[in-house]
Amino acid sequence: MRSDRSASWQARVLLPGSWRGASCVLLSNAGYHVLVDTGMPHEAHLISKALEGCGLHPQDIRSIIITHFHVDHVLNNSLFPGSEIYASQQGYDWAMALYSDLQDNQNWEKLALKYYPETHDYDRSQTHMEKLRKIALRWWDPKRLGSCSQFRWTENHALPEGLQGLVTCGHVPGHLSIIVENSEQPTFVAGDALLSRDHDADILTMIPVNRKLFEADRKQILSRAGRILPGHDQEFAFAGS
Ligand SMILES: [Zn+2]
Repeated sequence: MRSDRSASWQARVLLPGSWRGASCVLLSNAGYHVLVDTGMPHEAHLISKALEGCGLHPQDIRSIIITHFHVDHVLNNSLFPGSEIYASQQGYDWAMALYSDLQDNQNWEKLALKYYPETHDYDRSQTHMEKLRKIALRWWDPKRLGSCSQFRWTENHALPEGLQGLVTCGHVPGHLSIIVENSEQPTFVAGDALLSRDHDADILTMIPVNRKLFEADRKQILSRAGRILPGHDQEFAFAGS
């Protein structure tokens, strides 16, 4: 990519994050458009409409970046068959295995502990796990992830110039937050490393894989001044801590 792109990415929120849906963010730089996360199947028309509002069609999206493969972040990749998809292979493998084990009627509860070993540290852990399984059975569909040939694993591919991936793997292994450098303050597309502005208890999403790391990830994102786009909340400006 030409090096003059590095200083002028613009970030626009296409779908604002909320307790029931993940944020979906459009990054644009000199006609190069990147989508961070793609939402759930029932949000497909909202994404198309929001893109239209920006004068864009799905085929204008050159690249997708996936923060992680939880169902609420990734299930409209298939709307963009011409885009390259940047994501962590570690995160992909983890989610494929998790969602496959959750289909196991007999053993799913025991198997889920492989992925969420701290489950029983939480109140209402049973409810959390049942919710995770219910969502998995209802929505998980690997066909909506896009085709294998589209993937560019971030373990060995750099993101488009001017975008930096920050590994924030407390939420799930391989989770990526995106730092968008521009001439003023950086924008942080946090994904679920920072679910919401204040603390995160009411978000309809999973407990972290590693609570200590999750708290460190959040702190790291909030250590610098900038514009912050959480995974499940409205954006906010932060002065740094
Ligand atoms: Zn998540």
